[in-house]
Amino acid sequence: MTAIVSAAPDARQDLIGLSKAELESALAAIGLEKFRARQIWHWIYHRGENDFARMTTLAKPVRELLAERFVVGRPVASRDLASVDGTRKWLLKWPDGQEIECVHIPETDRGTLCISSQVGCTLTCRFCHTGTQKLVRNLAPAEIVGQVMLARDKLGEWPSLPDGRQISNLVMMGMGEPLYNLDNVAKALKIVMDGEGISISKRRITLSTAGVVPMMKRCGAELGVNLAISLHAVTDEIRDRIVPLNKKYPIAELLQACRDYPGINNARRITFEYVMLKGVNDSPADARALVKLIRGIPAKVNLIPFNPWPGAPFECPEENAIKTFADIVFDAGYAAPVRTPRGRDILAACGQLKSDSQKLRRSEALRQAADAVAAKDAAEID
Ligand code: SAH
Repeated sequence: MTAIVSAAPDARQDLIGLSKAELESALAAIGLEKFRARQIWHWIYHRGENDFARMTTLAKPVRELLAERFVVGRPVASRDLASVDGTRKWLLKWPDGQEIECVHIPETDRGTLCISSQVGCTLTCRFCHTGTQKLVRNLAPAEIVGQVMLARDKLGEWPSLPDGRQISNLVMMGMGEPLYNLDNVAKALKIVMDGEGISISKRRITLSTAGVVPMMKRCGAELGVNLAISLHAVTDEIRDRIVPLNKKYPIAELLQACRDYPGINNARRITFEYVMLKGVNDSPADARALVKLIRGIPAKVNLIPFNPWPGAPFECPEENAIKTFADIVFDAGYAAPVRTPRGRDILAACGQLKSDSQKLRRSEALRQAADAVAAKDAAEID
């Protein structure tokens, strides 16, 4: 017997990614009162429920009406990898066939989820593998919030708990440049921060940027999240080379924007990320120049040993060189932790995202160019 499968696309609207006001109007359009939006928000974002039938505080006819018109969507995890150190990496595939990665890094008493803001990245930082990817598009708010929802599903962490949770911290340090997609990132983070839902406080969220200077102020004023700056070099000459965005927004402008970042003080410091590249930016003179450069900015420095990827034109410095560098920064009065690489065995460490799905993506790109419809079908079959 042949199964009859409907070819009609699901016309129902996804409620994920709507702001509270948008949710209210979507519900008003089917005749539901405002207080329903609050109940449904609670089910979706506090309880993690994605089946209207189980939203038992709603009358049955309301649940049925909701199920006719709406869905509570979830990203599809096409791969789920676990590192020997406990790091998890999920490869998420969107209906258009594009993929991103999202990484969970557990620690003893907390855990950090690293999420992506774009498919690929336009910045082409020389040491970052994500930057070698051609296809780039912004992620929608639902796709950004969806990463947190999916991670909570996978870790079995519903309802949202106040403390001791596996996802206590969130970093926008995955694929993409969040400040080049600030509208969607802001909308998504407001949902994630909402106290009646997922409820991750702005103090536990860090947005990392390579330095899109004109967007930094808005990020601080509108979201108030912690800021991390991918600095990586102490002269424009070297930074121009390894972070090409520097040609647009050079170091002096970037540091001024850090000084002006709303809400910055000694209790809320800016994190400067500094990927250590052997023979490029790792000398004691570089370390001394770094502390001079950031003087006066409430800051800490995260030293990231370079994570290699196939064909990368850089090497990681020796442990001694990293330690000497860290000591100089520390002696100048800055916290200077050396970031332990996590999840290197599953290519989940900083700058390695997307590496192992490269082939799949390339073949998909070719298919798309040849025949968009065929590509879509193929993506659905995978
Ligand atoms: N575009 C934003 C968000 C990405 S964050 C930004 O640049 O900040 C990713 C972090 O990992 C950045 O600090 C980046 O510089 C760092 N990184 C990239 N490639 C790396 C590599 N191969 N080894 C170590 N760190 C890397």
